[in-house]
Amino acid sequence: MKLIVDIKKKLPGFSLEVAFSLEDGISSLFGPSGSGKSLTLRTIAGIIDPDEGYIALNGNVLFDSKRKISVPPEKRNIGYLFQNYALFPTMKVEKNLSLGAKKEKDKKKRKLEVQNMADLLSISHLLDKYPFELSGGEAQRVAIGRMLLSKPDFLLFDEPFSALDESLKIKIEPEFARIVKESGKSGLLVTHSKREAMHLSKHLFLISGGQIEKEGDLPDIYWNPGTKNAAELFGHQNILTIENGQIAALARKQEKAGKSKYILVHSFKETEEEANVIVLSSLPDENGFLHNIQSLIDSTTFTYNRRERAEDGTKLSLIPNEYSFLEF
Ligand code: ADP
Ligand code: MG
Repeated sequence: MKLIVDIKKKLPGFSLEVAFSLEDGISSLFGPSGSGKSLTLRTIAGIIDPDEGYIALNGNVLFDSKRKISVPPEKRNIGYLFQNYALFPTMKVEKNLSLGAKKEKDKKKRKLEVQNMADLLSISHLLDKYPFELSGGEAQRVAIGRMLLSKPDFLLFDEPFSALDESLKIKIEPEFARIVKESGKSGLLVTHSKREAMHLSKHLFLISGGQIEKEGDLPDIYWNPGTKNAAELFGHQNILTIENGQIAALARKQEKAGKSKYILVHSFKETEEEANVIVLSSLPDENGFLHNIQSLIDSTTFTYNRRERAEDGTKLSLIPNEYSFLEF
């Protein structure tokens, strides 16, 4: 599988200019709201045409402005799962799935395909139900099944879990990863959840303001984003300034900072040295307590995870434990 995208599209107040290529597996397009993620997917699906550029899947040209080629969406053989996917409300699950499998003309074979897909998705017990009788997670699996049954060459997912609540997402994500893997298909997943990106994809494209800011393999690019801007787009909290080889907020010596102006701290270590931070507040989280900390040296605030809660006002001495350097 190889998808090549190199396109430009100008809209009032927004301009999209992206160039990337995808190999086998699921990649994610990660970026803040309004950065051009859905727009990119829609151009790949053929729902909107770029102003100029080129899109090709497995050597087949889908769009080429120079040669005036634009293959219509239904002929691109690309599966597209929307943010707000819809099942046909008056049809049972089996019928909904069967419509996806309509490429198979032989009725018996189609029924078998639907049954196999239902097994793969663990929804065999739901075939006789109507969409309104399903939970959000079940409906979601049916929608994925319907899409896979249409045997697309490539899959597009636009925030497919955004309608589900958090606890359900955590259950559905690994299942989704398994289903897609077993289907052997490649695809592009749009998300603004870093957990989703890490769970479901190997390669990530970071998009911001209509441009690809950075790409890399996960989880490396997340822990080592390279630039301050990329670190901020990932939502990292502890981006601290380096001045004269020292981390300004902690006034602790940092070796080999090189050209880096910033340090991205993933975890801190407490020492016996003189206190350099004070606890402002704390909240329980999955690893104990997340503390809001303020530097006693320059009043920068950042976050610190600690198994035991430290009372507000506690003074601590911190040095970075795991970290990476960032350029401007
Ligand atoms: P997101 O990354 O949240 O999916 P979109 O790709 O939907 O962002 O949108 C990117 C930008 O393009 C937004 O500013 C949006 O308002 C604008 N936009 C998207 N579709 C259209 C359209 N059909 N007409 C005009 N502007 C659009
Ligand atoms: Mg969107």
